[in-house]
Amino acid sequence: MQNPALLGIGLGALVAGLVLMGIWISLVLRVLQALLPVALIGVGITLVLRGMGKTWSEVGRQVIQGLQVVPAGSGTPCPNCQRRNPPGARFCGQCGSALGVHS
Ligand SMILES: [Zn+2]
Repeated sequence: MQNPALLGIGLGALVAGLVLMGIWISLVLRVLQALLPVALIGVGITLVLRGMGKTWSEVGRQVIQGLQVVPAGSGTPCPNCQRRNPPGARFCGQCGSALGVHS
């Protein structure tokens, strides 16, 4: 009743599946190995931030605000809070006041 050809195909598929699974597992392990230091650093930074009473979103906001800082002497000073805003900005990035730029 058993068909040798079908049995061979089944065994071949099984071996191919095992080989593919082995390749897949080795890839996953390699990715995990590469990500582990990053994950540890991330957890470490998160713990330090928590110790400082800060969160990632707060830090991200501060970094973005730092990137938006316009060098002194350029841009439009806010009439309300004196923050310098990028040239052409119509509203203050800090307090939202209209900058009175006539475009
Ligand atoms: Zn302002």
